[in-house]
Amino acid sequence: MNLGPGRMLPTHRSALNRRQYRKAIRLYRQGKIQWADKQLAGIRTDLRKSLRAQQVERCYFCRQLVYQERRNACEDIEHYLDKAKPRYRKWAFSPVNLTMACHPCNMQKGSRDLGDAAMRASKSLRTGSGSFKWLHPYFDDFHLNIEVHPGWIYAVKPNAPRAAEATAMLRDLELDQIKRIQKTAQRYHDLIARAVVVMNKLIERNEIDRPRMKWVTAFIASINEELRWM
Ligand SMILES: [Zn+2]
Repeated sequence: MNLGPGRMLPTHRSALNRRQYRKAIRLYRQGKIQWADKQLAGIRTDLRKSLRAQQVERCYFCRQLVYQERRNACEDIEHYLDKAKPRYRKWAFSPVNLTMACHPCNMQKGSRDLGDAAMRASKSLRTGSGSFKWLHPYFDDFHLNIEVHPGWIYAVKPNAPRAAEATAMLRDLELDQIKRIQKTAQRYHDLIARAVVVMNKLIERNEIDRPRMKWVTAFIASINEELRWM
């Protein structure tokens, strides 16, 4: 199963550099608008699309599928260094600070500060600027450090170059705990139940045409594929 890239590339840099977004980004950096502001809607959409494609629709941390739960949801874009912290606000649109995460990982990460004192004092976001508490999506290779086994069992690889960071990441995200595995199974079952509800609604309204039918079957097939891995 393709669990996405080991090390991410800042391919969304060009989207972030678009002329029409410059003003909104400046306003955000100055603290005049917030992340959810509609002036940033276009850039959030571009970012989400780019990150989703690169991460093959998977969460950077746990590598499980991230389903678009709500329309216009913007909470799946994850800032590795928390944008809510004033010292990291300047990196809210830094290409190497952006990734996509699932809701459970996002919640588990919370407001944790993944930088060290040197990073907090740094003006630029680079590897040499300081160190990170977890693996970094752009500076470290996930697959060189973590092995994901069927059943969503995670292990730090022997001779992992970033063993301490990989260990901390698995521990803090509780990816090594049975309750997390149970939650994953439950989430997939809930998604199938919801697909059935949607399908029934479409049938009732007589709206079940070929494209919708295709979409629903593809959705169920993708969840089934994930469940086979449990
Ligand atoms: Zn996740």
